[in-house]
Amino acid sequence: MPQRNEPREQQATRAPARGSGSVPAARGAGHDRRPPERPRLWEEVPAVDTSHANPARMYDYALGGWHNFQIDREVADAVFAVMPSGPAVARSNRAFLRRAVEFCADAGIEQFVDLGSGIPTRGNTHEIAQARNPRARVVYVDNEPVAVAHTRQLLRGDARAEVVQADVRDPSAVLDSEAARRLLDFSRPVAVLAVAVLHYVGAGVEDVLAAYRLRCAPGSRLVVSHTTQDNQPEAAAEVREVLARSGTEVFHRDRAAVERLFAGWRLVEPGVVWTPQWRAQPAEGERPEASETWCGVAELPG
Ligand code: SAM
Repeated sequence: MPQRNEPREQQATRAPARGSGSVPAARGAGHDRRPPERPRLWEEVPAVDTSHANPARMYDYALGGWHNFQIDREVADAVFAVMPSGPAVARSNRAFLRRAVEFCADAGIEQFVDLGSGIPTRGNTHEIAQARNPRARVVYVDNEPVAVAHTRQLLRGDARAEVVQADVRDPSAVLDSEAARRLLDFSRPVAVLAVAVLHYVGAGVEDVLAAYRLRCAPGSRLVVSHTTQDNQPEAAAEVREVLARSGTEVFHRDRAAVERLFAGWRLVEPGVVWTPQWRAQPAEGERPEASETWCGVAELPG
């Protein structure tokens, strides 16, 4: 029987456990077959709190990933009981991320800061951007050790992308990090991605965003997606309660509040819309509002 707190991938591979918080490497990789010079992932993640569900790992579960623990799956399932569209919401958000990164890359942006980047999944920012422009550079930022460890492992051998473990509410920890200083040139346009992360930032979100904006050169882009209560106020309130009980505070914002997040920037067409509507045609029969997520991209005027 799998141990209760093991991540799914560890249940599958039966790698030697080293405490409930140990974090194994990529799915099905089989730890014993790893090249000896490559550190094992659980040695890079000193402490993972598996007593509380974590947003990065629940999101990974919603996307069908393997880097999550029993507690994450239990709380995510409780959320999906209230809002069964949860996994579709996550997929729609990822599709928006892809289109927005392609849009920025096609506009000539070569540098990206991905705030609250999450656990790597299919179609990560550096892969999308570098497919458009091999010179594209990406700094990923997350405060969750599992997300950071997996990102670090994915990025080995890529000199143009790095991950920083930091709180996005501390812009100088991000922007003055060694990785940012090495990879980013703030005298040139940068794309700041805040995709499905600002709903974890409560009062003071405007000041946080202003600090990033003040470091950006004209022509930079701000990419935001943000979950909302606008479509299903009662279900959204229940989701907030379920998550609050597990220690995660969520701040849903309505469309007007999401538009205000772009203060100082100039929104590009089509403005703030539901994720399936941003520079795409919703699929036949798709209800855009079922994405429960507003999004937009803006440019910093000169
Ligand atoms: N941006 C990715 C996407 O849209 O696919 C991942 C979104 S996931 C829902 C939110 C991520 O934000 C998680 O990985 C979580 O750990 C991270 N996060 C939440 N609050 C954060 C904070 N204050 N500082 C850094 N990362 C944070």
